[in-house]
Amino acid sequence: MTLTEKILARAAGKPKVQAGENIWVRSDILMTHDVCGPGTIGVFKREFGKNAKVWDRNKVVIIPDHYIFTSDSKSNRNVDILREFVKEQQLPYFYDVIDDPEGHWVFDASKGMLKRQYGSHYAGVCHTALPQKGHTRPGEILFGTDSHTCMAGAFNEFATGIGNTDAGFVMGTGKLLIKVPETMHFRLEGQLQPGVMAKDVILHCIGEIGFDGATYRAMQFDGPAVANLSIDDRMTIANMAIEAGGKNGIFECDTQTRAHVDYRCKLNGTKSTYEPVERDKDENFAYELTVDLSKLEPTVACHPDPGQRKKAKELNHIRLDRAYIGSCTGGKTSDFLEFARVLRNKRVAIDTFGVPATPEIVHDLQTVRWGEKTVWEILVDAGVQMTENAGCAACLGGPVDTFGRMNTPMKCISATNRNFPGRMGHKESQVFLASPMTVAASALTGKITDPREFLSELQG
Ligand code: SF4
Repeated sequence: MTLTEKILARAAGKPKVQAGENIWVRSDILMTHDVCGPGTIGVFKREFGKNAKVWDRNKVVIIPDHYIFTSDSKSNRNVDILREFVKEQQLPYFYDVIDDPEGHWVFDASKGMLKRQYGSHYAGVCHTALPQKGHTRPGEILFGTDSHTCMAGAFNEFATGIGNTDAGFVMGTGKLLIKVPETMHFRLEGQLQPGVMAKDVILHCIGEIGFDGATYRAMQFDGPAVANLSIDDRMTIANMAIEAGGKNGIFECDTQTRAHVDYRCKLNGTKSTYEPVERDKDENFAYELTVDLSKLEPTVACHPDPGQRKKAKELNHIRLDRAYIGSCTGGKTSDFLEFARVLRNKRVAIDTFGVPATPEIVHDLQTVRWGEKTVWEILVDAGVQMTENAGCAACLGGPVDTFGRMNTPMKCISATNRNFPGRMGHKESQVFLASPMTVAASALTGKITDPREFLSELQG
C-alpha cells in the first residue's frame, strides 16, 4: 500500500484497502474556519438537533482567519457565530480574534490596516496555525473545510478539504465515507540550487500534469532530496497538491517531522502520541515522475491557472503593478527571510504588500535581527507595506477593504497558491504565482524577474 492507503486502512480498521474502494474512516481532527464554520454548524444542528454535542470536543479545532480584518459586518458576524458555538459546546481549541468570549470584534480605524487588531488567542491562517498549535501528527486523519487542508500532508498525515455537509456529518459522528484515491508518485532527487525554492518544485510538478492532473488522487512526495527540504518547504509543496486537483499531498515521517511535531505538541499541551506510516515495497502508483531538484529554475505559474508553467527568465517582458507575499503557502517565516534577503538595502519599484500567515511569524520577523535592524524593519525600509494583521488577507480577494486586495484590473506577482480569475480581487486582474525570492526580485524591477539576477549581490 502507499502512504495514503496505509493511513486510510488503519483509520477504517481494515488490514488493507485499494484505490477506488469506498470506506468509512474515523477522523482525528476536524478543522473549520470563519467562512465555512457557520455553514458546517448549520448542517450539524439541522441533522443532529439543536441540542446536539460534537462527537469529541478535543478534536474540533476552529480557526477564524479568512475575512477578519474588515469592516464588513457579515464577515464579522461569521466570527460571532463561531464564538457562540464554541461557548455552547465548550470547545477548547478556538483561536478567537478577540480575548473576550462575550465580545465582538470591531475595526479600530485609529490603528488602520497595519497595526495589530487581535487578542492573545488569535492564531492566523488555519493551515499554518494547525501545526504551530500542535494539531498535526503523523499517521492521523485531518479533515478541514478548506481546500488547502492538504498542507498538513507535510507531516505524514492524510489531510484533505471537505465541504460543509461532510464536515457537519464529521462534527456529529467523527466519521466520513470516502473513496480511497489512487496515488501519484513524485520522487525528488538532487539539491535545490541558489535562488530556487520549494515553491518552484511544486509549480514544476503542477506544470507537468496540469491544474487538473491529480484530480482525486494522492500526491506522494519522497526520495533522497526530501531530507534536505525543511518542514516549511514540505508544507509549501503539500499545500499546493490541490492546485493540481489532488485529494491530498503526503510526505514520509523523518527525524525533522518528529522533532517538529514533538516540540509543537509539547509546547501547546496537545496529544503527543502518534504512529507514522512508512513506505511498503508493494506500492501501486497511477503515475510516476522523478524530479531532479538541481535542474529546476525559478518558475512562475501564469494567469489564469496554477498549471500555466513558465520559467521566470522567459517572462521578463511582463510588467507588473503589484507584488504580494503572504498566505499559508508563502507567508511563513522562512518565506519572508528569503524575500528579505533579496530586498535588503534596496527599494521596491511597485506597490508591495506583506502579510505574515500567523502572529507568531509577525513576532519572528519583528525580533530576528540582521545587523542593526529587524527583518521587519528591513522590509519596511525597502518599501514593503507590512501588516501585523496576520491572516488570509488578499490571497482570496475578500471584502473590498481587505488589505492588498486588487480592486482594479492589474497584474500582480504573488507568493500565494491560486490564480484563477478573480482570486485576489478584481476579475480582470492577473495573478502570477512564484516563490518569495522571485516575488522579491520582481518587486525590485517592476517586471517578472529571475531572482538569480540578484544572487551575486546576495553571495557577495
Ligand atoms: S491563505 Fe489563502 S489559500 Fe491559505 S487558507 Fe487563506 S485563503 Fe486559503
